[in-house]
Amino acid sequence: MKKYLVITIDVEPDCSPTWHYSDPLTFTGVSNGIRQRLQPLFNKYNITPTYLVNNVVLEDERSVEVLHQLEGKYELGTHLHPEFIQPEKKYEIYAGKKGIANGCFYPPDIEFEKIKNITGLFEKNLGYKPTSFRAGRYSAGANTVKSLKQLGYLVDTSVTPHICWDDASREKPVDFRAAPEQPYFIDEDITKENLQGNLFEVPISIALKKRNILKEIIVSVAGLRHPLRQYKPFWLRPYYSTTKDLIDIANQYISVNHDRDIMVLNMMFHNVEVLPGLSPYSLSEEDCRAYLQQLMDFFTFCKQADIQSIALTDLYHVFRKH
Ligand SMILES: [Zn+2]
Repeated sequence: MKKYLVITIDVEPDCSPTWHYSDPLTFTGVSNGIRQRLQPLFNKYNITPTYLVNNVVLEDERSVEVLHQLEGKYELGTHLHPEFIQPEKKYEIYAGKKGIANGCFYPPDIEFEKIKNITGLFEKNLGYKPTSFRAGRYSAGANTVKSLKQLGYLVDTSVTPHICWDDASREKPVDFRAAPEQPYFIDEDITKENLQGNLFEVPISIALKKRNILKEIIVSVAGLRHPLRQYKPFWLRPYYSTTKDLIDIANQYISVNHDRDIMVLNMMFHNVEVLPGLSPYSLSEEDCRAYLQQLMDFFTFCKQADIQSIALTDLYHVFRKH
C-alpha cells in the first residue's frame, strides 16, 4: 500500500483568541508564521504543504509576495470567507470582523460569483489558476461542487467526516456524517463517491476513536453534560489531538484501509496557530513551541511509517492515473 500525507493549511489574516480579525489588520501569520516557522520546518522534513489562502489575505500585496516567493515545495489554493468578497460583500473594513458566513447557503448564483471572484483574485495576483479549494467553516455543498467544477478546480477539501455542523450560526446543518474517510471523486453530492465525477474530494482526516469514559468522568464532571457516546471524532490536527492521538489516528487509517492500494491522511490547521494569541489555540510562545514540536514528532512518525508527503493537486493526478 502507498501511504500519503497531505497538509492543508487555511491561511488567514492575523486573528485573536475569539477568531475576530486583528485590529489593525496584520498578516504576521504569513510573513512570520509561514515564512519563518512553517515552511522551513516543512523543508527540513521534506513535506510539501498546500496553503489554502483566504480572500482577505489574497488582497494583501505583501502577503501574496511572501506566498509567491517561499523557498521549498508547496501548493497554493483558495479558501473562501464569503462575507469579505463581492457580490453581497458585507464589510469594507475587515479589522475586528469575524468570518461566520456560510458559502453554501447563499443563492447558487451568488456563491458562484464569490468563488469566481476569489479565483480571479488569485489568478490576477499569482499569475496562474488555483486548482484546490476549501470553504470557510467547511460550509460546502452541492452548489459549491458545481461552481468549483465550472471554474476549473480539481480538488475540494471541505469535508469533515463523522461531523454534522449544526450550530446556530448555520442556516441549516452541514452534515458530513455519511462522507467516506478516504478521498473520492464526486459529481454532485459532496458526501457521495461517484467514479464518473471529475472533482476530487480529499476529506480532512477524522477518526472515530473509543473514549476513555471513566477517565473523562474523573477528569471533569462537565463530561456528564452530554450523553456519553462510546466513540468520539478525533481530528488529525495538532492541539486538538495529542501527539499520541495523531499517531493512533494514522495507524487506525492504515489498518482500516489495509486492502487499498492507496491510503491518504489529511492534516489540517491554520497558519495563525503557530504564533501566540492569533487563534484560540496557541496563546503563548511556549504553546507555539509545543505545537511545532507536535508537528515534528508526527513527521518523524510518518517518515518511519513510510508515509510520503504530497500536495493536493499532485494527489489528484495520482488517483486519476490509478
Ligand atoms: Zn477560514
